[in-house]
Amino acid sequence: MGDQPGRWSVVLDLWRAQREGEAGLARRRESRFADLLSHARRGSRLYRRLYRDLPAEGAALRDLPPINKRELMAAFDEWVTDPGVTLAGAEAFISDPARIAAPFREKYFLCTSAGTTGQPALFVYDRGAIDVYRAINFARLGVAWLDAGDLWRMALRGYRWAAVLGADGHYAGAGWIELERRRDPFRSLAYRVFPVQRPLADLVAALNAFDPAVLTGYPSALELLAEEQVAGRLNLRPALVECAGESTTQDAGARMAEAFGCTVRNFYGASECLVMAFSCGRDWLHVNSDWAILEPVDEDFRPVPAGEPSHSVLLTNLANRVQPIVRYDLGDSVLVRPDPCPCGNPLPAIRVAGRRDDVLRLEAADGRTVKILPLAIGSVVDETPGVHRSQLVQTGPAAIRLRLDLKPGADGEEAWRNVIASLSAYLREQGLANVGLVRAGEPPEQKARFGKFRQVIAVPPA
Ligand SMILES: [Zn+2]
Repeated sequence: MGDQPGRWSVVLDLWRAQREGEAGLARRRESRFADLLSHARRGSRLYRRLYRDLPAEGAALRDLPPINKRELMAAFDEWVTDPGVTLAGAEAFISDPARIAAPFREKYFLCTSAGTTGQPALFVYDRGAIDVYRAINFARLGVAWLDAGDLWRMALRGYRWAAVLGADGHYAGAGWIELERRRDPFRSLAYRVFPVQRPLADLVAALNAFDPAVLTGYPSALELLAEEQVAGRLNLRPALVECAGESTTQDAGARMAEAFGCTVRNFYGASECLVMAFSCGRDWLHVNSDWAILEPVDEDFRPVPAGEPSHSVLLTNLANRVQPIVRYDLGDSVLVRPDPCPCGNPLPAIRVAGRRDDVLRLEAADGRTVKILPLAIGSVVDETPGVHRSQLVQTGPAAIRLRLDLKPGADGEEAWRNVIASLSAYLREQGLANVGLVRAGEPPEQKARFGKFRQVIAVPPA
């Protein structure tokens, strides 16, 4: 049939775990962690090496060394637990955009992290993990977010789901939609990705024509769309607006709710763990703590108590086996709510800060302001061969300074030429042929609030 929300046994277990409260969640978390650890030590040469000095049985999470994206990507072939999965194979697979969400090695879902995280990486998900995420979307997000009235409004709009996300690459968000579209003919018609790379006026026209029941996207994109809705150019009547991929503020959420006249909720996921948490009516994100462990830590990876914002957060993904993620430095600043959330959800409640690039407001030759989404312009640069990492800094109303980190062995002059050419073409399409691009001598700058890399930096308002 293909209309199942994943395996029903997983769905039932999610409901039971939530009903049992912290004791039931902790029991599942501990047994899944023990399984993951023994699987990682058995199947991953990298973890076997990292954990060789730890006791063979019963190592605690806190005893394990934290790890980051750079270390994992450098040892990709040793990291994965299926020897048939290699970095070379995965890179060859994702080099073709037509293969987005197609089964990699006949059974895996493959995605890349978006350019906004600074360093590209590749993530492989197995069938079990996909089942868990599908089940969570259905049993937790759907149940918490939608009431009978919303379901009725969704039915009226044919359950159409519009996702305004970075397309043209194997990103997790657009990849997930494509994975769902590949499940059955109904979903392939009802779910659609609208690339944020498109000029805003095109996006508005396409969304008006599609008339979605659910609108998902980066808050930076959704805020621009809310402005379009208020201005009367966009005319959507969704039952739900879902913000994903970046942090948002309560103010921005309230503006969107007002503009679209519906419930606005936040979703916290990453390429490293597709579904981590989802927001409630009190604006707290509830962590699926039976399938993911989030440890807020300071600069030295020591635990940060509830109620204080952390420097970073360590993620342990309990759902995915093929590429174990254990105490992974995610880089987000997280604050854990010390007391139970008044919404009544027993899942731990957090807030996340510092995952945000800027929207650029550039001046066209005729004096109009054209708004450019950070992921849209960032991905134009990152998809240029030879580019490892980039940073775009707005230095004036119509000026951008471009910083590049090139891949080892790349032809620098050629990479720069290509980046300038593709960026110029992109800006021309947006009506911004007048914008000046300056090639910076310095590399991208790492320093930012909470240590999180920012790829796109707007000129501060005067
Ligand atoms: Zn809550």
